[in-house]
Amino acid sequence: MRIYVCGVRGSTPSPGQAFVRYGGNTSCLALAIDEGPPALVLDAGTGLQRLSPLLDGRAFRGSILLSHLHWDHTHGLPFFAAGDRSDAQVTLLMPAQGDPTNVLARAMSPPHFPIKPSELRGKWRFLGIQEGPRTVEGFEVLAREIPHKGGLTYGYRVTGGGATIAYLSDHSPIALGPGPAGLGTYHPAAVQLARSADLLIHDGQLVQSQFAEWAPFGHSAVEYAIGLAETAGARRLLLFHHDPARTDDQIDAIVAAHRDGSVPVEAAAEGSVIELG
Ligand SMILES: [Zn+2]
Ligand SMILES: [Zn+2]
Repeated sequence: MRIYVCGVRGSTPSPGQAFVRYGGNTSCLALAIDEGPPALVLDAGTGLQRLSPLLDGRAFRGSILLSHLHWDHTHGLPFFAAGDRSDAQVTLLMPAQGDPTNVLARAMSPPHFPIKPSELRGKWRFLGIQEGPRTVEGFEVLAREIPHKGGLTYGYRVTGGGATIAYLSDHSPIALGPGPAGLGTYHPAAVQLARSADLLIHDGQLVQSQFAEWAPFGHSAVEYAIGLAETAGARRLLLFHHDPARTDDQIDAIVAAHRDGSVPVEAAAEGSVIELG
């Protein structure tokens, strides 16, 4: 499995000198099996713009799997050049909640935006999905609802090309009690998704000292993500959904502070490519 890291930021983009190494675009990963082009996209944040140049001039033919519908996970949709052309074929899958086209159009239609999802060029299908397993673009995908804030949110476990990843971009355990480190208990769905994964890609928006104040917004502390990785037996942890104000140097310091733990900890960097399997 090859993972193209197209956007790593949470909440809103972060342009500027202090953010160039980890990147300022919001959540988007593009997955390829073996040598093929990326065919499965996880979330459509502003990082989705970065996928088009990776396709060597071809239209996108594949699926986009949304974790949830917050702006930072959907804003890239109308700016996805390789998906907005007559020869594109795109299946967009999102947590089931009413008619998917209408739900998406609540944020993407006049007067909020000039066009609706149905006006994207090419052949687009919009589908709501339930929790459970399915095959998407040759990947085995397990969807489970995970606690977040303000809207149905799925985490995904994705297996293909000899590797398994767990993707929990936005997740807060606070509704489930204080937990072993005072940062929330490990939700059973989160543990199931991350169980023995080669790579756990997890919400790392907060650090422990911020958690009490900011947890009501639905995000995790880095220390919770590390504890979840340890509990679930994940091999590596990739911190994701960085706070929009978190500078490159601050992210470096977070990674350095957890260098000697039992699970290797890295921070997702826009433009990087991760090979697994
Ligand atoms: Zn988000
Ligand atoms: Zn969110």
